[in-house]
Amino acid sequence: MPTVSRAVVQSVRVHADDVREFRLLPDKRAPFEAGQFLQLTLGTVTASDFWPESRTFSIASFQAPDRTLRLFIKRAGAYTSRIFEELVPGAACTVKYAYGEFTMPAFEEDSAIVCVAGGTGVAPFLAFFDQLQAQGRLDRLTLFHSVRTLSEAVDRERLEDALGPDRYRVFLTRETRPGATCRRLAAPDLLSERSDDPGRHFYLCGSPAFSASFRDLLEAAGEKNVHTEDW
Ligand SMILES: Cc1cc2nc3c(=O)[nH]c(=O)nc-3n(C[C@H](O)[C@H](O)[C@H](O)COP(=O)(O)OP(=O)(O)OC[C@H]3O[C@@H](n4cnc5c(N)ncnc54)[C@H](O)[C@@H]3O)c2cc1C
Repeated sequence: MPTVSRAVVQSVRVHADDVREFRLLPDKRAPFEAGQFLQLTLGTVTASDFWPESRTFSIASFQAPDRTLRLFIKRAGAYTSRIFEELVPGAACTVKYAYGEFTMPAFEEDSAIVCVAGGTGVAPFLAFFDQLQAQGRLDRLTLFHSVRTLSEAVDRERLEDALGPDRYRVFLTRETRPGATCRRLAAPDLLSERSDDPGRHFYLCGSPAFSASFRDLLEAAGEKNVHTEDW
């Protein structure tokens, strides 16, 4: 049964004109798994009320010591524009969580986890990162992140430090930077990753077109463990 909770905005960080990071502190804690999502409404509601207009966002953190839930939101239309205007530090919203099955393979499985993100699609993988780090199993994780500009490569320093340049790879599609990979991500980039592990899992998250194109390529190449979430 999902938990409904008021949540107060602790901080807002601007990563690009249309991408912001929000840290919310919910009144009520609910158990959740890395990769799950919540429903956010700007209205004030209780569990027994009719649930009003809301939007879905992946939780980009896992068991944060300060108990906050981290979200990365891209302004896409009317409701996310309202979120950008109204969710300032100190403001409150209502969240209902947690939902979703875009979660990691079992701990015992020990397989490699290759994550492929387009833009804010990195959000669930930041929760994977937190959980694997807590388990001391970051060696399982590779993250490919395709972004328009480097400012959208959120958490870049932390990810680079922990995963190194071979297992954290940023692809810039609308900006040229010395030392950066300035091209679109392609199937061979993914297929060569952890190719020694026959049980490797691929997780794809981004726009429907982004996820579908890589899912089709990976499945055509015979990959069995391909998981997608798109928005
Ligand atoms: C499981 C899941 C997880 C998600 N996680 C995240 C997340 O972590 N971060 C995130 O940012 N989003 C996430 N989303 C998407 C999010 O829930 C919203 O759907 C999205 O932010 C749309 O916001 P909006 O209501 O402001 O846009 P809407 O107003 O609903 O617009 C949606 C789309 O329609 C287009 N559009 C709007 N008006 C017009 C028009 N007049 N003409 C043409 N096109 C138009 C917009 O450009 C946009 O692409 C997730 C979705 C799902 C299903």
